Amino acid sequence: MGGGNHGRRVTFLRWASRAASEYLYPARCICCRSARPAGMSTAEYVMLADPEGRPRQVFCEKCALDFKKSCDEACRRCRRPVHECECAPEALRAAGVRRAFACFSYAPGQRDRASSRLIYSLKDGRNRDSVNFAAHLLRRRIQLSGVFGGEYTSAVITYAPRGRRNARLHGDHMKRVAALTARLLGCEFADAFSNRASGEQKKRDLYGREHDAAMSICLSKGADLAGRRAIIIDDVITSGATLGACVDLARDAGAGEIAVFALAKTAR
Ligand SMILES: [Zn+2]
Ligand SMILES: [Zn+2]
Repeated sequence: MGGGNHGRRVTFLRWASRAASEYLYPARCICCRSARPAGMSTAEYVMLADPEGRPRQVFCEKCALDFKKSCDEACRRCRRPVHECECAPEALRAAGVRRAFACFSYAPGQRDRASSRLIYSLKDGRNRDSVNFAAHLLRRRIQLSGVFGGEYTSAVITYAPRGRRNARLHGDHMKRVAALTARLLGCEFADAFSNRASGEQKKRDLYGREHDAAMSICLSKGADLAGRRAIIIDDVITSGATLGACVDLARDAGAGEIAVFALAKTAR
């Protein structure tokens, strides 16, 4: 520790850089990037605290309403809203995972939906607010899920990594989200997997691509999951192949109980 003086300086610098970036890039809706009208909409998950603890609006009113719809969309199998659904797709069940948790529904073709725009904004890697918001959503979902009998603070949180090429171009958004989620929950974060995919695959459908991508995920050198409870997170669950591959690897590495969470489940 560098003492109080150092701590105060860091806090001040954080505040100053924040103030500077807000001045240069005024706060905007994390979905549509339109300027955010002040003082409306109070849906709790639309708010985030800034570093000083003040609640901050991250969605415009239109996107907030549309996003809420994506959270409430009914699962076709269990009829529950996505944010309460625990249905695991086939590839995850094959990996021995019976419950899969997500926060909202994602429709890949519908580019104008707030849910799609949030996912693009994350993948694009330039918007800190979307990472922040995604981590807060996952924290809430993990806390409400009851996994590990609520004893997730001893768990290690890791993520399904992005292919090498995209990670180089845009960074790995789920690495940032997972690290922040772990911090919010007071859990350990681990970079447990690597992804050798070049990212140059335009063939087949969404499911075929996910299957191919899942095949290129491997355990990172030095990943230590032995005897640990693991929470593995991803942005979107489509076929479940990606998370299924991670679960298999984690189990091979000796992980104990494993739970999977995603920001979204693909509507089908
Ligand atoms: Zn908006
Ligand atoms: Zn369901």
